Amino acid sequence: MMMPAGSVFIQNFGCRVNQAEAFDWAAEFHDKGWILEAEPARSALIVVNSCTLTSRADRDVRRFIRKVARENPRARIVVTGCLAERDPEGLNAMPGVWKVVPNADKPALPARCFENGLGRVSGFAAPSDPPGSYRARALVKVQDGCDMACAFCVIPSVRGRSASRPVKAVLSRIEGLVSSGYHEIILSGIHLCSYGRDLNPRSSLLELLTRIEALSGEFRVRLSSLDPRLLPFPFLDFLASSRRVVPHFHLSFQHGSDRILKAMGRESTAGGYRDLAGRFVRLSPEACLGSDFIVGFPGETERDFEATAALLEETPLAYAHVFSFSARPGTKAAEDRAVEPAKVKSRAVILRRLSGEKNLAYRRRFSGRMLPGIVIQRKPGGLEILTSNYLEVIVPDGRQPEGAAVLVRIATVGERSTTGEICDNETGRP
Ligand code: SF4
Repeated sequence: MMMPAGSVFIQNFGCRVNQAEAFDWAAEFHDKGWILEAEPARSALIVVNSCTLTSRADRDVRRFIRKVARENPRARIVVTGCLAERDPEGLNAMPGVWKVVPNADKPALPARCFENGLGRVSGFAAPSDPPGSYRARALVKVQDGCDMACAFCVIPSVRGRSASRPVKAVLSRIEGLVSSGYHEIILSGIHLCSYGRDLNPRSSLLELLTRIEALSGEFRVRLSSLDPRLLPFPFLDFLASSRRVVPHFHLSFQHGSDRILKAMGRESTAGGYRDLAGRFVRLSPEACLGSDFIVGFPGETERDFEATAALLEETPLAYAHVFSFSARPGTKAAEDRAVEPAKVKSRAVILRRLSGEKNLAYRRRFSGRMLPGIVIQRKPGGLEILTSNYLEVIVPDGRQPEGAAVLVRIATVGERSTTGEICDNETGRP
């Protein structure tokens, strides 16, 4: 029986790839006349796209499911994603959970819901506008899975081998999104730098980006995480000279001690990271470089940690995402002796403080400057703009719609916030 129009809320946990999958589902539900709700309490269907990168992610997913089952007992909850891959029985036994969908079946998730004749829940008010997150920027998943085997990482066991979307399919998806008005496309992948290796004929991220560069239309491309082990210099040259790829590069360094990098099973060195970061900013002096770092990996000494802090401090990184090591079932590092939790906590605090200082210094460089950006959402304090070089700017009296491409002049740079004013794209005047 075909399903009448319904209402759906999609809750994402974790990475950009999860967000890109939800972006595709949202479009499919919308095309079928479903309403994309901004709150789970108003929805007939709640889709939970779970994550299991850390034990904290597991806890947050389960807590969310319990909460929505309590607050909206009539809703049907579908759980998918990496925790669903790792613990389907546990999730299936939770209150309100109607279905657990494995990662491999994710593309068919909406169709599986349509097949089961879910209808609109009666007695609810008219639905709110679809959430801005689906209007501001478009996410395109181009690659899934990972062939690497980092000692701390559970992802290969829940996402499988690296698999790339064919070049033609990616190009036509982007053309469709650009013609429907998107100005920024986020290319996402679990291991983006592996793009194309599994395709026949073989391709590469560089080839894909070169093809995207030649497409018509006013749009820019933002890349999700890049593996520093797979960034040959010609690729850097392309990134620095591209008119589409925004000057924001998130690198997964993970650690600054060669001893720990070896224990993590990552064939790379802090010296190599320094060379790479140096080359990036020589080619693109205003680029925003960021990196992931793990603190508290088993065996990490004070000296190892200081090497990470030094790498963050001494390289032109503008921010760091800091993760405390979390032992994941089935990973090589899971059995190793953990670092004392208090030490892990204090090291994370130190690194986050350092990241804040680096980010403030980076943002101050653009004070008074005009930068291209995208309107992300309307907030109580004004419009939130994300600039190409990854500054979040609040424009107090902005009226532009979500997704609009704008020029923003940086007015004030504070420890926690940056404000600006929208300028006319032609004259540059406010
Ligand atoms: S490269 Fe390493 S950290 Fe990244 S997804 Fe693959 S195994 Fe995990």
